[in-house]
Amino acid sequence: MRNVFYSIWNLIKSRQNSSKAMVHPKKHLGQHFLTDQHTAQKIVNFLPDGVKNLLEIGPGKGILTQYILEKQIPDFQVIEIDKESVDYLSNQFPTLQRRIIQDDFLKVDLRYLFDDKFAIIGNFPYNISSQILFRVLEFREQVEVVVGMFQKEVAERIASPPGNKKYGILSVLTQAFYQIEYLSTIKEGVFFPPPRVKSAVIRLKRNQVEQLACDEKLFFEVVKTAFNQRRKTLRNALKKFRLVEDQNIVNLLDQRAEQLGVQQFIEITRALK
Ligand code: SAH
Repeated sequence: MRNVFYSIWNLIKSRQNSSKAMVHPKKHLGQHFLTDQHTAQKIVNFLPDGVKNLLEIGPGKGILTQYILEKQIPDFQVIEIDKESVDYLSNQFPTLQRRIIQDDFLKVDLRYLFDDKFAIIGNFPYNISSQILFRVLEFREQVEVVVGMFQKEVAERIASPPGNKKYGILSVLTQAFYQIEYLSTIKEGVFFPPPRVKSAVIRLKRNQVEQLACDEKLFFEVVKTAFNQRRKTLRNALKKFRLVEDQNIVNLLDQRAEQLGVQQFIEITRALK
């Protein structure tokens, strides 16, 4: 059914002889264009005041971009992988032209884009939303704020507190470095073509943690291993690490991954050394 949607749309568009100004939705790039102005404006308004450097990921046809431009942010750049969208944007927004990076967000070295820390905004391509988050974590010294639209289910996972089925690897890793706010649920109908699932906007704000109080690589590893066997107690799930069970962590090991917060994963990681 969905493929039919894309095919018909692309057929109609290819028959209109105005390809210059068109963007055909491409499934493999996760292109679902927001069509509702009110929603677009609302998302842009979730940016905190005073943002000086901003990167929009996947502007597409620029529905968010137009409202961002109104904010006159001193250094605003967009990164878009799709050439057709880039051409469209340059046509529609001449003032944006030199601020469009045609590239893959997952491959760009984010340290060199701005002079200082920056914020990220976007209706993210859902096929790479986890990878976008991991990229943000990798460059967390540069990325202060993220206002992003994700699949609702992913947004809920990121924002979920411990003790909840939705709580998982992404929640712990992002919550270690960002404070998360779930802001708004968005229905399928405001996109074209409509996605299969609901969406949600969340905001991530960098917390004060510069370095975790434990070996960070090991922490990531522990969290992943713990959740890969989330039904087991941590004592069993983490067997391969040969835990030294001191007083501090005995109680933690009786629990399951989803019951532990960031601090407790740090305690366990410290006990591995
Ligand atoms: N922001 C637009 C488009 C959202 S669809 C809107 O709200 O309507 C997701 C956008 O991300 C598409 O324009 C797609 O081409 C772009 N995109 C997909 N993968 C990307 C990547 N790896 N790097 C940069 N942009 C990407």
